Amino acid sequence: MKQKFAQIRAQFPILQQTENGHSLVYLDNGATSQKPERVIKAIDDYYRWQNANVHRGVYGLSERATELYEGAREVSRTFLNAKSTREIVFVRGVTEAINLVAQSWARSNLQAGDEIIITEMEHHSNIVPWQLLRDQIGIRLSVLRINQRGEVCMNALKGMVSEKTKLIATTQMSNALGSINPVKEMAAIAHSVGAKILVDGAQATPHMTVDVQDIDCDFYALSGHKMYGPTGIGVLYAKEALLEAMPPYQGGGDMIYSVTFDKTEYNVLPYKFEAGTPHIEGAIGLAEAMRFLNDIGLSDVAAYEAELLAYATERLKQIEGLRIIGEAEHKGGVLSFIIDGVHPHDMATLMDQDGIAVRASHHCAMPVMQHFNVPATVRASFGVYNSFDDIDRLVTSIEEAKEMLL
Ligand SMILES: *Cc1c(COP(=O)(O)O)cnc(C)c1O
Repeated sequence: MKQKFAQIRAQFPILQQTENGHSLVYLDNGATSQKPERVIKAIDDYYRWQNANVHRGVYGLSERATELYEGAREVSRTFLNAKSTREIVFVRGVTEAINLVAQSWARSNLQAGDEIIITEMEHHSNIVPWQLLRDQIGIRLSVLRINQRGEVCMNALKGMVSEKTKLIATTQMSNALGSINPVKEMAAIAHSVGAKILVDGAQATPHMTVDVQDIDCDFYALSGHKMYGPTGIGVLYAKEALLEAMPPYQGGGDMIYSVTFDKTEYNVLPYKFEAGTPHIEGAIGLAEAMRFLNDIGLSDVAAYEAELLAYATERLKQIEGLRIIGEAEHKGGVLSFIIDGVHPHDMATLMDQDGIAVRASHHCAMPVMQHFNVPATVRASFGVYNSFDDIDRLVTSIEEAKEMLL
């Protein structure tokens, strides 16, 4: 396994450069991932040889661009194991996907007094869109709390849901804690009261196999840039019957079948939800990133990153005064920590001098910080190019920074 993953780092041009005189140890994958050569090349090739607007031209170039763009939809469909490409809507990322569901599906199906349940570990992008909706139509937003390890409790969720519950919106893996939620079980609980479930897959898709039919989720969102693809592109998966009944989110070109000043007929799925010229090269780059992950094999990715996490956890626990935030039993490659008496930002700034890129912030999950009563944490989050060597350098750097700051 180690050997297989040792080859992968060489495929990432950005990791070949030095930072502050050191080879770069990139451990901010929770914020965004680096891009392999093949993804960069797919985008470059598109602009060099294939650029044209899609779904319009009858000339060869436009047909080729359309084939690539629609081909990316098919790659996304198989990546998520969706039934049909009609269920794959290209969006800007998870944030836009959730806003789309809030403003289209929820706004037209929910009424004042209806309930949406989110968890305490959500990213702000799975909190704020529901608060906006709450202010617009008067829904109730309830929070499923986490325990001190950073886990949600299924019995608590079972006790919360009622016929008023219309949606459970949950992350599959927490970006701040690494906790992996039992989304399949949560889907069953949602469906037991006739509610729908939305799964935020921003952190799950780069690290584990996802099968939307197996989870039986109603909505699933992913961001390309978190999974070795470009920024500004993502996917909203939704069950076809839901999308069919939902009103458009934005109006404009490409999402229409016919327009007069009196009446507009909308295009078929999924184009009804893709107004305007799409992010063509983004979709092409995303598809290449999905092929990259498929070629490695997501079960191998999960197994390798689990080894990295186990090793790093053991090493970090030996550092005096260090407290790991988030110790869920089911956990992905994220290590959030604080050190008594040391400000996370000072720590990360010193670590940068060693060529180590980690995050020091609230990780767009302020309620998680409030739960653990800390303003911020230092977070090391792993990707396919990280090695055991990287962990050793991380540990040395933490120890040295701690010496200087205490
Ligand atoms: C990054 C992230 C988001 C937001 O994704 P964008 O690409 O910024 O839209 C949402 N949820 C989680 C868990 C994330 O890590």
